[in-house]
Amino acid sequence: MSARILDGKKTAAEIKEQLATKVVELKRKGCIPHLSVVLVGEDPASKVYVGMKQKACEKIGIQSETIRLDAGTKQDDLLNLVSKLNDDEAVHGILVQLPLPKHIDSKKVLELIRPEKDVDGFHPVNRGRLAIGEECFLPCTPAGIQQLLLRNNVNPEGKHLVVVGRSAIVGLPFATMMMQKKPGANATVTVCHTGSGDLKRYTKQADILIAAAGRPNTITADMVGPGCVVIDVGVNRVDDPDSPKGYHLVGDVDFEHVKEVASAITPVPGGVGPMTIAMLLSNTLQAAEKSCK
Ligand code: NAP
Repeated sequence: MSARILDGKKTAAEIKEQLATKVVELKRKGCIPHLSVVLVGEDPASKVYVGMKQKACEKIGIQSETIRLDAGTKQDDLLNLVSKLNDDEAVHGILVQLPLPKHIDSKKVLELIRPEKDVDGFHPVNRGRLAIGEECFLPCTPAGIQQLLLRNNVNPEGKHLVVVGRSAIVGLPFATMMMQKKPGANATVTVCHTGSGDLKRYTKQADILIAAAGRPNTITADMVGPGCVVIDVGVNRVDDPDSPKGYHLVGDVDFEHVKEVASAITPVPGGVGPMTIAMLLSNTLQAAEKSCK
């Protein structure tokens, strides 16, 4: 039997509808939630992501501006801009789109964003709070995966969750969230990476498998146990001369074959991606609610 599809687009739409109601309430109190997005350079994928974020904000009534800087922007000028946004009371959330051009130290820029405006959850203060289980802005992709699971009746509590990937924006924070003694988490977590050797040894044992390696076909059907819930975070461009863009997107999971073994699975696109954007909106709204109190 083919796996149930965990539809991120649909789940994200439900979340956005709920957020839109909250935006109306906030505006009634005279508070207009505002997200400032900074885009440096011409990276095509970044331009697409920023466009999607701006559109999503507009759709639910969050005010959003995209500040576009050219690729040669000096680091000090970018730092000055972030300082200005930090000091602007009308700005509730600041997002600096990554990757930044090589001559700019991303760490320096991200660390300058005030933790209470850090709606991406990348500031060390938010990362630290997450690590010790305190309230913080959760990074959007891990938060989106958790919501996708819970809102589709997959509760990680008591499950064996295997995460492939330990990056600072996906694998590591998601593993951290899932092992905490909290509702919607409290899982037993295994984290795999390039030093793990035979991945199958671990993935085969998973009740819930998260693929966040950034490589097509990292997870094949023989690596998945029957009934496993498979979340594919990967977004990989594969050359495709038949497509008008010259490429198409695939995840890290061999979807066609894995869906015959898994009990539930996310598609790419339309799985984790829309959830990430929904969580950015949610964090921005939270930032506005706190600041307007
Ligand atoms: P990343 O920084 O490149 O990290 C990849 C991680 O996977 C690393 O920890 C790496 O291990 C591990 N890895 C790579 N190949 C592996 C293999 N063959 N076996 C075991 N582990 C392997 O990537 P990322 O930023 O986490 O992103 C991962 C994927 O998710 C990318 O395709 C990205 O585009 C996508 N993504 C999607 C969204 C979304 O909203 N849908 C958001 C963020 C990212 P080492 O640490 O040992 O190098």
